[in-house]
Amino acid sequence: MSSLWRATVLTIFPEMFPGPLGLSLAGKALADGKWQLGVIDIRDFATDKHRSVDDTPAGGGAGMVMRADIAALAIDAARAGADQGTPTLYLSPRGRPLTQQRVRALSAGPGAILLCGRFEGIDQRVLDARDIEEVSIGDYVLSGGELAAQVLIDACVRLLPGVAGNETSLAEESFAAGLLEYPHYTRPREWEGRAIPEVLLSGDHKRIAEWRRAEAERLTQERRPDLWPRKSKT
Ligand code: SAH
Repeated sequence: MSSLWRATVLTIFPEMFPGPLGLSLAGKALADGKWQLGVIDIRDFATDKHRSVDDTPAGGGAGMVMRADIAALAIDAARAGADQGTPTLYLSPRGRPLTQQRVRALSAGPGAILLCGRFEGIDQRVLDARDIEEVSIGDYVLSGGELAAQVLIDACVRLLPGVAGNETSLAEESFAAGLLEYPHYTRPREWEGRAIPEVLLSGDHKRIAEWRRAEAERLTQERRPDLWPRKSKT
């Protein structure tokens, strides 16, 4: 029996958790004990009376940098409490962009330790010394790693067995087969003069599947040609 998938978040804003992860699909699964969330306040490892975790950047310049020594204490504490083989990731705009493939691999593992940066970021030495991988959620800059950690956790948790409730919908959604998903429709049958595509009302499952596949391919080629070459390899 493997133990539960566990996310351990290292942050100076522990009150941001569970936040949105306490609601809807992820929140219900959390309450049902299908995954676990640990939150470690990096400030608990500060050594001065102001509980400071940051200092001015070496070499000068704007902003503050999170200290390596304090962050390392928090990381080591998180690792001591995590299952063996749990990866430690630093959410960072410089990291490798998160993909559904990576999300799938992470959700199949024991969990993740997620280091949330603030200020200008974190002292490089702790990332090197603790061999921490950087992961980005997109080419834009957030003010902290917490929202990025929540994005990563949400994406992983919905893939855990028994969480989404409808595993076949997971198999068909965007990126699952290297394609964007086909469009959806529901009642009313006609709305503002727009009809549901006739084929979807035909009851002909083979034609419906063909239509959906064609739409998924069309949308992917149109919107994300960068995904298209990958399609045949999945
Ligand atoms: N000075 C840094 C940005 C710091 S933003 C730079 O130019 O690269 C502050 C923190 O927000 C970062 O330490 C990181 O943890 C988080 N963050 C910002 N953008 C992010 C993104 N796109 N993906 C993941 N984390 C991000």
